[in-house]
Amino acid sequence: MLALVRAVPDYPVAGVTFRDITGLLADGVAFGHVVAELARAAQGWGGIDLVAGMEARGFLLGAPIATSLGVGFLPLRKAGKLPPPTESVSYDLEYGTAALELRSGTLPVGARVLVVDDVLATGGTAAAGVDLVERSGGVVVGLAFLMELADLGGRARLAGREVATLLHVE
Ligand code: AMP
Repeated sequence: MLALVRAVPDYPVAGVTFRDITGLLADGVAFGHVVAELARAAQGWGGIDLVAGMEARGFLLGAPIATSLGVGFLPLRKAGKLPPPTESVSYDLEYGTAALELRSGTLPVGARVLVVDDVLATGGTAAAGVDLVERSGGVVVGLAFLMELADLGGRARLAGREVATLLHVE
């Protein structure tokens, strides 16, 4: 499975090894396996009412996981993509800040939400997704990622939460 994720050195900037999942997505058996395994892990955490995925690759994994679980999907979009009204959470990047937004009113208060993205690196994006869901009245049941970049410490940032990852690299 790891062989289907291309490691691209020094992309998009020097020093970063980009994990390109397009080869995995193009392999129907592997893609189906990833969706089934992450959905199965999340089912072990109890009832899930909705899946939320971070733009953009969290959409590619989160939407099929949602249909596999028989629930709806919430896109957590990058700033400025959704028409108002929205809920918004800003977070720090290595250089500058970013924001995730959710359409107001799409998340029923108390709904149990699974948060999905492709890669867990420093955990900043995932923490912002959790924050956005919780500020909007949801309950984050856990988080599911295809891949974890263990050296970057994202899991520590999500301490105390249920976290499922299928592939691990240093
Ligand atoms: P972070 O907030 O540092 O955990 O970064 C996670 C987010 O950035 C996810 O949405 C990933 O898609 C993306 N990302 C971070 N690092 C990488 C990487 N090395 N390869 C591919 N995507 C990455």
